[in-house]
Amino acid sequence: MTDEILLAFLNDFRPSWSEDLRRRVGAATDRFVRVDSLRVDLQRFHAPEREQYHATLLLAEMLRHRPAGAGHIVGITEVDLFIPVLTFVFGQAQLGGPGAVVSVMRLHADYYGLPANESLLLDRAVKEVVHELGHGFGLVHCPDYSCVMSSSTYVEDVDLKAERYCPDCLDLLANPPESRVNVV
Ligand SMILES: [Zn+2]
Ligand SMILES: [Zn+2]
Repeated sequence: MTDEILLAFLNDFRPSWSEDLRRRVGAATDRFVRVDSLRVDLQRFHAPEREQYHATLLLAEMLRHRPAGAGHIVGITEVDLFIPVLTFVFGQAQLGGPGAVVSVMRLHADYYGLPANESLLLDRAVKEVVHELGHGFGLVHCPDYSCVMSSSTYVEDVDLKAERYCPDCLDLLANPPESRVNVV
């Protein structure tokens, strides 16, 4: 089933809310979502000078682990991710491609010195996974700040947006731009 989404929790990270994440990502994307654990040697992507992990290289590793017949794979980790031009990233995906990776490290309230809040963490994780999947479906950033496809530089931006695609983004999903070009 090519529409299937695999949420791959990396190594020993398997939060108690993984089933809630599965259900809510399924509701937002209207696709069948499966959860599994995936063992990856994260040390290969570790940048010691930054104490972070290279998101692009980890993303490439996700693609190598994409099961035959799987549509999209989203690796979910608690380690901090970066790309060389940015201090950190909440996640990364290929535009129109089947792979994505999301880090929940900076989605924790206690990362910012606030009391731990599991339901807020889940809300944020849903939004980031649905956002990166949106890129995988071919969506770019949306100017509607309440749309899940609006860009998030800080965790406050994540909190502002809903976990759903706005009507304009839903319309793009239903009628991908590719099908709008080269027509006569
Ligand atoms: Zn984005
Ligand atoms: Zn939108």
